[in-house]
Amino acid sequence: MRQSLLFTKTRKEAPADEVSKNAELLIRAGYVHKEMAGVYSYLPLGLSVLSKIENIIREEMNAIGGQELLLSALHPKENWVATGRWDGLDVLFKLKDAADHDYALGATHEEIITPLVQDYISSYRDLPFSTYQIQNKFRAELRAKSGILRGREFIMKDLYSFHRDQADLDRFYDIATEAYKRIFERVGIGDRTFFTYASGGTFSKYSHEFQTLTDAGEDIIYVNKEKGIAVNEEVLEEETLNNLGVKRDDLEAIKAAEVGNIFKLGTKYSGAFNLTYKDENGDAQPVIMGCYGIGLGRLMGVVVESLADEKGIVWPEAIAPYKVHLVGLNSDDSEVKDFTDGIYLSLKERGVEVLYDDRDLRAGEKFADSDLIGIPYRVVVSKRSKEEGKFEVVTRATGETRMLTEEELYGDFDSDENT
Ligand code: ATP
Ligand code: MG
Repeated sequence: MRQSLLFTKTRKEAPADEVSKNAELLIRAGYVHKEMAGVYSYLPLGLSVLSKIENIIREEMNAIGGQELLLSALHPKENWVATGRWDGLDVLFKLKDAADHDYALGATHEEIITPLVQDYISSYRDLPFSTYQIQNKFRAELRAKSGILRGREFIMKDLYSFHRDQADLDRFYDIATEAYKRIFERVGIGDRTFFTYASGGTFSKYSHEFQTLTDAGEDIIYVNKEKGIAVNEEVLEEETLNNLGVKRDDLEAIKAAEVGNIFKLGTKYSGAFNLTYKDENGDAQPVIMGCYGIGLGRLMGVVVESLADEKGIVWPEAIAPYKVHLVGLNSDDSEVKDFTDGIYLSLKERGVEVLYDDRDLRAGEKFADSDLIGIPYRVVVSKRSKEEGKFEVVTRATGETRMLTEEELYGDFDSDENT
């Protein structure tokens, strides 16, 4: 992509009312646009990051047998009345049409998926299975001051699993846990994301949160880094600690953001909608359910919060909008410009994802923008590169600088793309 054609521009300032670091950087760099508190649009660069996160999640959900679907975002009131959450869920957005009918905007989808699968489950032979979607959720969050970490509209992956008994749910829950660990590993925050014991699902003593250490987080977790154990503040009971084999004094209190949450729902929703299957004897039994969520925007925001430095965003390679930021200097010299265009085309031909700063700006401005945008590798092409056949390559995360020949350059960025 030629940066001169990108309709978004970097900005010196974020909106005055923006108090979170993630939103400030993402707005200034041109990834998101703020519509109002807690509501952001994703711009081309931001959508590129989001799509990469989405694909990692999709691959891992498909790998454990999850079947993707897309549920409605507009919900009938009756479904929420059936579970007691029309009145019980304070963040539920409710709306009326001109004929005075009531609706809810989906804050989560147990109220839709449970009665939906009822149409397809009759016997034990129809179980188990799991199904998921990636979709916008709506919640009337009171405090929406954490940028894309806490939206009133936000994108979630929610998977629901259906089982004949608790043992089968337990089996699948462990498989889903491992898939979640792989997701955070692949996104690039595996080293700082902890599988955390949190207070109960309905059917079990604990639910589990995936908590990423960051000062921007709204939770406090108690971590033992050596043992890889973390416990949410609210479950810090003696009994829990005993079960986990740790002492209070061995745990360090650290701020963290919940990026994922998995629950054993048991019969909470199947009960509300009378979702049953017939066992081998022909007797009706309640379906046992689990649910598994990840906030994609929150995950993206957490990456920004925890990896950014004073110059701007630092993307892990797996979710960066582009792999290479090609910065052309001396572009007033038409020979240098042609030469740089040639490098851009060669990189593209080799399948390298490259943003090409072909704009007519001073070097300092281009470098500042490049640092702000946070693409993993910056390749600088100047008059000297043309004369001497050497290119400066800067790794954004570490600042490491290397001088490569044209051939070395292609070799370097080719390797994982084309093998
Ligand atoms: P929180 O405690 O932070 O309000 P929650 O426990 O209510 O979140 P869940 O219902 O467990 O959230 O949602 C699953 C995932 O969706 C969360 O782990 C988080 O990553 C994401 N998420 C929840 N609320 C928001 C929000 N307002 N904005 C962005 N992401 C969110
Ligand atoms: Mg949660």
